[in-house]
Amino acid sequence: MTDAELEPTTTGPVPVLAVIGRPNVGKSTLVNRILGRREAVVEDIPGVTRDRVSYDAVWNGRAFTVVDTGGWDPDARGMAERIAAQAEIAIGLADATLFVVDATVGITDADEAVVKILRKSGKPVILAANKVDDERAEAEAYGLWNLGLGEPFPVSALHGRGSGDLLDAVLKALPEPPPEREQELGGPRRIAIVGRPNVGKSSLLNKLAGEERVVVDNVAGTTVDPVDELVDLGGRTWRFIDTAGIRKRVKEASGHEYYAWLRTSTAIERAELCVLVLDSSQSIAEQDMRILQEVREAGKALVIAFNKWDLVDDERRYYLDREIERDLVQVQWAPRVNITARTGWHIDRLVPALDKALEGWETRVSTGALNAFLGRIVAEHPHPVRSGKQPKILFGTQAQTSPPTFVLFTSGKLDQGYERFVERRLREEFGFAGTPIVLNVRPRE
Ligand code: GDP
Ligand code: GDP
Repeated sequence: MTDAELEPTTTGPVPVLAVIGRPNVGKSTLVNRILGRREAVVEDIPGVTRDRVSYDAVWNGRAFTVVDTGGWDPDARGMAERIAAQAEIAIGLADATLFVVDATVGITDADEAVVKILRKSGKPVILAANKVDDERAEAEAYGLWNLGLGEPFPVSALHGRGSGDLLDAVLKALPEPPPEREQELGGPRRIAIVGRPNVGKSSLLNKLAGEERVVVDNVAGTTVDPVDELVDLGGRTWRFIDTAGIRKRVKEASGHEYYAWLRTSTAIERAELCVLVLDSSQSIAEQDMRILQEVREAGKALVIAFNKWDLVDDERRYYLDREIERDLVQVQWAPRVNITARTGWHIDRLVPALDKALEGWETRVSTGALNAFLGRIVAEHPHPVRSGKQPKILFGTQAQTSPPTFVLFTSGKLDQGYERFVERRLREEFGFAGTPIVLNVRPRE
């Protein structure tokens, strides 16, 4: 099948196909067949966990990731549990599942159980009836219609028979990689400038916009909310969310706090990135922290602007550093810029900070690279033993970007401290400046 190994036509995130099924049905042989390289998957050695479970595949110019879920299960458990765990992984991380059945054996109870789980998930399933080595054996495959998963594809993983049709069906089931965002269509980035009253939000916006306000009609592919403002910065157009609100709020009397909050909250939701403006001449306040919390929970990229830097003397600087250590420890990853909005001092540093944060927010780590990394940190720094057991990370995948969201399959619950350690190491390894990271831990118990 080497003729089909054309260069992939996409460079973006690729869809994931999980291969599941009982032992010995021919999963590894089939994965090798899909990859077109016989040496790709090493034979199972009992009691030894394979290092690698995911592989980059290409068929008809389309790239996808194949996850061989048979390889990672370290404890000897019952067959039914094992196969259910596989199905769970497939549903959790894959865009489609290739379910392999040995046609010469037929349907077993373990197969029936997994079918139920797969069917309930509603995700696409391709059913491979393996070990159909010749035409005569094809009749055996038809019995698999009974599984209720649609048409079974008769294949011989060993000889390659039928594998082209199977792969065509796989491609059909996998989603086309979607255009990641409006950005790719030429639309502007959505930025919210947030902060409590009088920190200098409107001053900042006015300085940024200056003479660079954009005529709305000229921007392609955008429906502009009347309260948004389009501004040219660094040669690109940016959309500042709810800036009418910023200007208006200056005149707002107190007593409108609820509406002000609602507005901030909505702006955060609509934005891709939030610039939290702080008044550096004053202590970091409860309200600053509340907005910060909202940005984190919404999973938005974040840049912190320390405004009114003209008012910061050595003494204030000393206390500010301590406040940052105390209050901003949770968002150490956020790029910070010191600015004076009133004069425009250093506001040219804002655009590089926005770019950096958005890049981190959209970073995608391949399943292969992630698991190589997870394997390394688990070996170097194993989880502490808890009541005689040592939870282990078995497998991970980045399920989403914007913000980066990871699903970790583990053999037990992880300590909070260990989760923080994993997050810290992820940041050291892959960057993720300017973005919260979501860890979704799925203990198998
Ligand atoms: P896994 O445990 O599901 O990964 O199964 P393997 O890929 O290790 O295959 C188990 C056994 O079935 C091996 O001895 C393979 O050579 C054999 N096998 C796999 N595919 C086929 C096939 O299409 N036809 C035949 N006759 N044997 C196969
Ligand atoms: P907003 O309520 O957050 O939009 O804040 P404004 O932009 O209306 O600013 C509140 C007050 O702070 C105004 O009197 C501004 O002139 C002043 N201000 C804004 N930026 C700066 C700055 O960088 N330095 C100093 N000293 N004052 C500033």
